[in-house]
Amino acid sequence: MPKTALLKESERIMRICNACRYCEGYCGVFPAMMQRKSFPDVDLVYLANLCHGCRACHYACQYAPPHEFDVNLPQTLAALRTQSYRDYAWPKPLARAFDRNGLVVALISVLVTTLVMLLTYVVQDAGVLFATHSGAGAFYQIMPHRVMVIPSAGIFLFALLALTIGFTRFLRDTGVRVHQLLNPRTMWRAATDAAQLKFLTGGGDGCNYPNERFSHLPRWYHHGMMYGFLLCVAATSVATFYHYGLGWEAPYPFASWPVVLGTVGGIGILVGTGGLLWLKMQSDPEPRDRQSTGMDVAFLALLLLTSLTGLLLLVARETPAMGVLLAIHFGVVLALFLALPYSKFVHAGYRFAALIKYARERRAVPGKIELSSDY
Ligand code: SF4
Ligand code: SF4
Repeated sequence: MPKTALLKESERIMRICNACRYCEGYCGVFPAMMQRKSFPDVDLVYLANLCHGCRACHYACQYAPPHEFDVNLPQTLAALRTQSYRDYAWPKPLARAFDRNGLVVALISVLVTTLVMLLTYVVQDAGVLFATHSGAGAFYQIMPHRVMVIPSAGIFLFALLALTIGFTRFLRDTGVRVHQLLNPRTMWRAATDAAQLKFLTGGGDGCNYPNERFSHLPRWYHHGMMYGFLLCVAATSVATFYHYGLGWEAPYPFASWPVVLGTVGGIGILVGTGGLLWLKMQSDPEPRDRQSTGMDVAFLALLLLTSLTGLLLLVARETPAMGVLLAIHFGVVLALFLALPYSKFVHAGYRFAALIKYARERRAVPGKIELSSDY
């Protein structure tokens, strides 16, 4: 649906919901909606990013299709969210990748992994590549440290810049100011809502995903993925400190902090992304936005591949397969970095900003906008 039509449809549904208010206890979208008499575009984008797609409102709705009002709130807000990812992405030519995201992410992964593999074959002779290496510095006998760090740091910094620009544009358009982001009370409220994925609890019994039945599985799988990702970030940070601060070279012992954090995080990502992909395959198509599916699947698949290749490398790091596995894992990680600003990953920042705005609105009108899960 074109953007103007999408905004018009979102506003139409919001007006119906604001008159009905049956779903007011399900999530933050309804209390935030009830504070408004009109719905300018910026507010619609904010509400779309506040929605967690739990679908509780769809199965409870007496005006959902085939009713003539044709209210499909999760699908409309999901389409508007995806449109906002596209609008705020930077730079624009790469942002257009959003329109065919699944294909682009797949192509990026294949291309980067193949390039890294080819480079490794060119740099190393077969004797070194397929030999068994062990102990400190074993990885760098296959791929020199500089060859690993320079491209990954460059791509990571570019991704960080693109994410920051997109996030800043989102803040500007939705009216969230930097001092509000830094306010400890609203920050704490938003952080606890995000850490618990509170709005994926529906009215308290869980969300209606992948179908009409109530389930807490999506929330638990999302937790596995999110906390697994954070543990892997922690593992990389500790490893960086070991390398540059203490002069200790990877690979590290199985009982070291980088390996323990990375292993637990990798398993969390594997279970979380695998579970979410499995649920997605069974998802009821009616409240689903088809245009977002490619982006969701591509990001989950890339994250799953990153943890899978990382864990395989850990298990086989003292075998002749280590050289090839290292090149594949490194290629997949680079592809993940490149794809981050143009994938579903951006929802983490946008949703957190929307939660901050929501926390601020709740403070402004205490007692008027409570959720059933608050009691
Ligand atoms: S989704 Fe349907 S039932 Fe819920 S508030 Fe909107 S119109 Fe009412
Ligand atoms: S979070 Fe759930 S209940 Fe709230 S608007 Fe989105 S789909 Fe509906």
